[in-house]
Amino acid sequence: TRADLDALPSYVPGRSPADLARELGLPQAIKLASNEVPYGPLPGVVEAIAEAAANSHRYPDMGVVELREAFAASLGVDAERVATGCGSVALAEHLVRATCLPGDEVVYSWRSFEAYPIIAATAGATSVRVPNTGAHGHDLKAMSAAITDRTRLIFVCSPNNPTGTAISRADLTRFLDSVPDDVLVVLDEAYREFVTDPDVPDGLEAHGHRPNVAVLRTLSKAWGLAGLRVGYLVAQPVVAAAVRKVITPFSTSAVAQAAALAALQQADEVARRCALVIAERDRVTTAIRALVPDVPDSQANFVWLPLGAGSAEFAAACEKQGVIVRPFQGDGVRVTIGTPEENDAFLTAAVSAL
Ligand code: PMP
Repeated sequence: TRADLDALPSYVPGRSPADLARELGLPQAIKLASNEVPYGPLPGVVEAIAEAAANSHRYPDMGVVELREAFAASLGVDAERVATGCGSVALAEHLVRATCLPGDEVVYSWRSFEAYPIIAATAGATSVRVPNTGAHGHDLKAMSAAITDRTRLIFVCSPNNPTGTAISRADLTRFLDSVPDDVLVVLDEAYREFVTDPDVPDGLEAHGHRPNVAVLRTLSKAWGLAGLRVGYLVAQPVVAAAVRKVITPFSTSAVAQAAALAALQQADEVARRCALVIAERDRVTTAIRALVPDVPDSQANFVWLPLGAGSAEFAAACEKQGVIVRPFQGDGVRVTIGTPEENDAFLTAAVSAL
């Protein structure tokens, strides 16, 4: 295998709660580590899956026509501008493959979504990491200054995983105006549905018309389909077509397409669930600030605890109490918002962990 893979960190998924419960001898553990929503599948989704499963000896629709049209209709864009993939993480990878040759540069803020360095490296591209500001957000001026002749793609993650910070309207516009036309900006809006700050723009509405912007979204978070792997992007037709060209054939399964179509019928229920998560996010943020200073405002379904060198120890102490959170060594801990009971269990664990 390639020698350079040895130096590449693996993507670390959240620990299995069943595994931790077994270790601790508890009936169950609580997982607040992967930014999932704590509610089950949306109404109608399980039935749609069962129906699609009856035809699982057949390949899915490779063009994903019906689902792409449903996304297009709900977003008010043309279906030729939409591509779907096996999670938005796969689409991020396809976008890099569609734009970068070996040695080309991919710029992103750091810390941000941990898949970006892996995606860039496996495509043979060079990662250019721009450190976050002291307020844990993107340093857009520095990102702009990091663009070179080799830059082909920039990831902008808003709200940012794992810090929860989001980019304001004016800052995003200023940044996009500074990016050359031949550099693709991928606006990763995996957590868009949890945004409440009116000063944070909807990237698609505000910038979808730009020729060099691709907006990445997912059904894994607010829409509760993490296990089925459905992400989508909206870009100019030429970019969406390029992604559909480099994609692994049939990567949105028939079951995933059917589940996604059923989920899209449930926008009102999604909004209701998001409102519950948002209320809990704000409650947890206030409570945890009494223990951890400098917790940034979150516009996502998680909060960031900048615990620095104490991060791994804090996460381990929470685990001992049956609550799985996500430490980023030497930097901070990301805690997903769960049900009120799960959040209370986390807050109790945090008090004794600190
Ligand atoms: N982008 C961001 C910022 C994320 O946090 C995640 C999931 N952790 C993804 C993309 C990928 O999500 P999925 O592949 O499930 O759509």
